Amino acid sequence: MPKTINILGVTGSIGQSAVDVIEANPERFSVNLVTAHTNEKQLNKIAKRINAKKTVLTGRDNLSEALQESVDITLCAIAGMAGLSSMMLAIKHSKAVAIANKEPLVAAGEQVIRAANKYGTKLLPVDSEHNAIFQVFDCDRRAEINKIILTASGGPFRKWSLEQMEKATIEQALAHPNWSMGAKISVDSATMMNKALEIIEAHYLFNIPANQIEVLVHPQSIIHSMVEYIDGSVLAQMGASDMRTPISNVLDWPDRLSTPGYKLDFKTVNDLSFEQADNIRFPALGMAYECLEKGQSACVAFNAANEIAVDSFLEGCIGFLDIMDCVGHILKNINIISLNNIDDIYEYDNNIRAESRVYINEITNRVVLVS
Ligand code: NAD
Ligand code: MG
Repeated sequence: MPKTINILGVTGSIGQSAVDVIEANPERFSVNLVTAHTNEKQLNKIAKRINAKKTVLTGRDNLSEALQESVDITLCAIAGMAGLSSMMLAIKHSKAVAIANKEPLVAAGEQVIRAANKYGTKLLPVDSEHNAIFQVFDCDRRAEINKIILTASGGPFRKWSLEQMEKATIEQALAHPNWSMGAKISVDSATMMNKALEIIEAHYLFNIPANQIEVLVHPQSIIHSMVEYIDGSVLAQMGASDMRTPISNVLDWPDRLSTPGYKLDFKTVNDLSFEQADNIRFPALGMAYECLEKGQSACVAFNAANEIAVDSFLEGCIGFLDIMDCVGHILKNINIISLNNIDDIYEYDNNIRAESRVYINEITNRVVLVS
C-alpha cells in the first residue's frame, strides 16, 4: 500500500526536494494534501505533478480542517514559527511527522515532544544534522553516548572579518557555499544562527543536555553530524550536500528510498577539515547555550527576535551585524517567565516581535541621524 502523505510548504526549497523524491518513487506515495502560503499558481502546478488530492493556500484558506484527516506522514516544511500550529495538528492526526521546520521546535520543543508522546506519533528529523544523528544515535544505549557533534559549514562569512561582515550585502548573505536553501535559513547560516537553532533543536529531538552538544565547523559539509560513544567510537553520517538524501531517509522510514539526489563521490573529496567556531564573530552559538540554561521563554525570544531581524535585513532596513545585535539586545532584556501551553508561547512570541521591531526602529533612526 502506498503511504498517504501531506506536504506543508510544498513550494519551498525543502518542499520541492520532497516533490523530487516522491516523483522518483511514485508507487510508494499517495499525496493527500499540499500547501503553500501565497503562490497559488505554483501550488497547483506542483499538485498536478504529484497528483495531490487537495491543495490549501495558507495565506487565504483554513488549513486546520484539511489537517484533521489522518495520514501516514506529514512533512512540515513551512519556514519559521508560522509552522507551529500546523505541526501540532499534524502530530495529532499523522502516524509520523517529518520535521524540517526547526523554529517551532526551538520555541515549543517541550510541547511538540509531549504531543508526539501523547498521540504516539513518530517524529522524524529532516534537518541534515539531526537526520545524521538520527541515523547513528542508538536510542537503546543512550547512557553509552558521550556527546553529539553538530557539524556546521561556517556559512559564506566563515573567513570574513567583522569589518567585512558589517558591510555584507543581502546577495552575499544568501550565497551559501554548499547548500541551496530558502532565504531565511540562508541568512541564518551566514550569522550561524542556524547552527544555534540546531543546538536547541537537537536538545529537544534527542532529549540530550546542552553540555553534551558540541558544534564543529566542517566547511565541506560532507559529514552531516556525529555521535561519540563512551568507548571513543565516533559514528558519522556522510553524503552529498543535497536535502533529498535526508528527505528520502524519512519519507518511507524505516525503509530506505532511492533518491534522485547527488551521491557522494569520494574520489572528488580532497579534504575533510574541521575547526572551532569563532564565538566573537558568531555570537549566536553562545546565545543558544545561554537560552537552554534560561529555559523556554528565552528560546522563544531568541527565535522571534531573529525572525524579525532577518526579515528587516532582507528588506534592506538593517545591516548584517544588526541581526545578531538585535537578538542579543532582546535576550539581555527579557523577562524569564514560565510558558505553560501553545497560547502562552504565541503571546510571548508576539510581545518579543513587537519589542524587536521597536529596537530595529531605533537602529534605523540611528543610521538616519548619522548619515
Ligand atoms: P522556503 O522559504 O524555501 O519555503 C517555505 C515554505 O513555507 C513555502 O512553501 C511557503 O509558501 C511556506 N510559508 C512561508 N510562510 C508561511 C506562512 N506564514 N504560513 C504558511 N506557510 C508559509 O523555506 P525552506 O528553505 O524550504 O525551509 C523550510 C523549513 O525547513 C525552515 O524551517 C528551515 O529552517 C528548514 N530547513 C530547510 C533546509 C533547506 O535546505 N532549505 C534545511 C534544513 C532545514
Ligand atoms: Mg541543518
